[in-house]
Amino acid sequence: MKTATRLAHAGRDPSSQHGMVNPPVYHASTVLFDSLDQLEASSADPFAGIHYGRNGTPVQFQFENAVAELEGAYGAVATCSGLAAITVALFSVVEAGAHVLVADNVYGPTRKLCESVLRPLGVTTEYFDPLIGPDALAAHMTEQTCALFLEAPGSLTFEISDIPALADVAHAHGVSVLADNTWATPLYFRGPDHGVDISIHAATKYLVGHADAMLGVINCDEAHYMPVRRTMALHGYCAGPDDIYLGLRGLRTLGQRLPGHWQNSLRLADWLAEQPGVTRVIHPARADHPQHALWQRDFAGATGLFACQLAPTSRDQLTALVDHLELFGMGFSWGGYESLILPVTPNDTRTATAWDDSGPTLRVHAGLEDVDDLIADLAAGFERMQRA
Ligand SMILES: *Cc1c(COP(=O)(O)O)cnc(C)c1O
Repeated sequence: MKTATRLAHAGRDPSSQHGMVNPPVYHASTVLFDSLDQLEASSADPFAGIHYGRNGTPVQFQFENAVAELEGAYGAVATCSGLAAITVALFSVVEAGAHVLVADNVYGPTRKLCESVLRPLGVTTEYFDPLIGPDALAAHMTEQTCALFLEAPGSLTFEISDIPALADVAHAHGVSVLADNTWATPLYFRGPDHGVDISIHAATKYLVGHADAMLGVINCDEAHYMPVRRTMALHGYCAGPDDIYLGLRGLRTLGQRLPGHWQNSLRLADWLAEQPGVTRVIHPARADHPQHALWQRDFAGATGLFACQLAPTSRDQLTALVDHLELFGMGFSWGGYESLILPVTPNDTRTATAWDDSGPTLRVHAGLEDVDDLIADLAAGFERMQRA
């Protein structure tokens, strides 16, 4: 089956739900058992079926099965947010004394988790240049290294690591490969095909797709699946059934929405590249992206998030640009149908590499509006900036 067909049918079982197309949302904590025998059987294997609200409800299993099928993973585990998915994934592989290798361009809160939660527990994290080669990465491996954590393209700066080459090194050292795959979604980067053992998604972004729920999902190979599922339940990071429903509903139209984000982001990037005052545009699908060839090799598409950098600009000029845009909102998160723009400071969350911050960096999320309207909005902003 082709992806579009899978998107419509994966995980569904209408015959088990009175023929209705979509699954019911059970609001559940307690699950009742008819007999002591059944209660004991369920307790003996609490992940085999419906056991307790925290361990999952039917809509969750449909969502997880659909996401796993789309990325070609053994199984998926839903969590209450993208950050919970990162937390669960990391906790499923570390122990006291462990060493974790994390790419320098990861989502800021991933680094905070490593520093504020893992380090006090005796798990040390070392950060490396996301463009590191396999031999240099091998030199960072120690007896204690248990996880390699990648994110490509990286948050804010969009470097693309050579994931298959780095994964090979990790596997040769018995190290698990984790990747935050939120930008590409299961549609545009299939982690298992590129050596990723645990592919993490902030479903809050494109899977939910409408900026109305927090949700995470972790795609796992067979070896990591039960450890991840148990870690989710041990931490109590289960997702609410209504939010999972929104994730499942969003998934059904993902294949229609992503090309719109991709097209609009590329049009905006191309337009921005022509503007005086813009020194560079960083979009993996543009030929001038430094790792464009890796994007072409490993990714099946691009989504709506990219960055551009301005020439040195006063704060008044920057606010003249961003404060009065009519269509672009300013706020955290992304992946909804609406366009966003956000001044970002990558050097606040980097230690292994330095980002050229001679001028402001703007992160842009291209929504699904008409791109000519978006360009007109930005054009008015750039005029205000020139006048300021
Ligand atoms: C937003 C985001 C997350 C965290 O997701 P939440 O649902 O907001 O917790 C993780 N990784 C990346 C790359 C993100 O953009």
